[in-house]
Amino acid sequence: MVSERMKGLGTARSVIRELFEYGNIRAAEVGRENVFDFSIGNPSVPSPAAVNETAIRLLTEQPDLIHAYTSAQGAADARQRFASSLNRRFGANYAASRLYLTVGAAASLCCVLNGLTCPGDEFIVFAPYFPEYKVFIEGAGAKMVLIPAEIEAFQIDFDAFERALSPNTKGVLVNSPNNPSGTVYSKATLEQLAAILTRKSKEYGHPIYLISDEPYREITYAGFEVPWVPHIYRDTIVCYSFSKSLSLPGERIGYVLVPEEVADGDDVYAAVAGAGRSLGYVCAPSLFQQVTSMCCDMTADIKVYEENRNLLVTSLREMGYHVVEPGGAFYLFPRTLEPDDVAFSERAKKLDLLIVPGSGLGAPGHVRISYCVQTETIRRALPKFQALADSYK
Ligand code: PLP
Repeated sequence: MVSERMKGLGTARSVIRELFEYGNIRAAEVGRENVFDFSIGNPSVPSPAAVNETAIRLLTEQPDLIHAYTSAQGAADARQRFASSLNRRFGANYAASRLYLTVGAAASLCCVLNGLTCPGDEFIVFAPYFPEYKVFIEGAGAKMVLIPAEIEAFQIDFDAFERALSPNTKGVLVNSPNNPSGTVYSKATLEQLAAILTRKSKEYGHPIYLISDEPYREITYAGFEVPWVPHIYRDTIVCYSFSKSLSLPGERIGYVLVPEEVADGDDVYAAVAGAGRSLGYVCAPSLFQQVTSMCCDMTADIKVYEENRNLLVTSLREMGYHVVEPGGAFYLFPRTLEPDDVAFSERAKKLDLLIVPGSGLGAPGHVRISYCVQTETIRRALPKFQALADSYK
């Protein structure tokens, strides 16, 4: 006997992985250059040179120490560098002791969700959303409550949000810049969200935590700004990752920040650390604790994502697609040209154009285009997008 839930999770691939694997099979048949794979969010730009240089230097200078266990919550010097960087950038005063280093944003979220969840708790998520949230929330023993997408700008439908709040609401997850819409929540959106959460926390007599999942924090475009969420809502817990900003998804490194001022902050931090222990996420990879903490004020050369966004937004609009302009991340989320986004994605697949149906991401009638690819790939894919649009005329 095994856990049916785990067996299901282990055998059913996500819709994104399914397409990605199909792309590999198709590439073997027709050549990689003839498959236009916009399925997955693997950064297409290399890490800054300083990342590899720092890793090599540390491996050379500390060959006996660099592979050792660190403290469960991360090495003190690495946590201090992260705290100092956050304090410099956001005018804050965080102590290193409020950071918990772990293996990417996925583990950060799991530590927070497992640390917070009590029987009967619910977490609110806004569509469209990163589908692993459901796995993480349910894995923690809580219930996910999904708010339908506000499809004009992908901000928040506050009426629907207010209706979904209940005394069982333990937390709310936000992800800005967003996967899959590329939306950046405006300051006004976050302020309105904070006002509602403050009012409802008071009414229910317990804090509602805002979990800010920020792997795309630095990937923003001209005219858009990502506000520092803990300055807008006190009870914010930040989950961060270097997967996208430093193009290091395979190194599995990120952190949880529980600011001092968060309600019951000492307990929350202790519970996050306890969850990390119970899930086996202690002692994040020690080489990359050091490397990222020494390089955390840089980013990969992310200019190309803006170029890709501009090319896609302009070209797709000319072809008649409805597109909300993304303010960050590297995803575009246009409306499909028929109501059935799965059928639309299948039609695209016949053209070797791999785009992810939005219904699995909580927003039917849309598809996700991951444009973290070479600009030339987008240029060569444009006739395919045109052929797809023409097939509906
Ligand atoms: N959250 C969002 C919104 C993501 O898009 C991803 C990865 O794509 C993650 C979390 C997980 O990131 P990590 O690779 O750091 O675990």
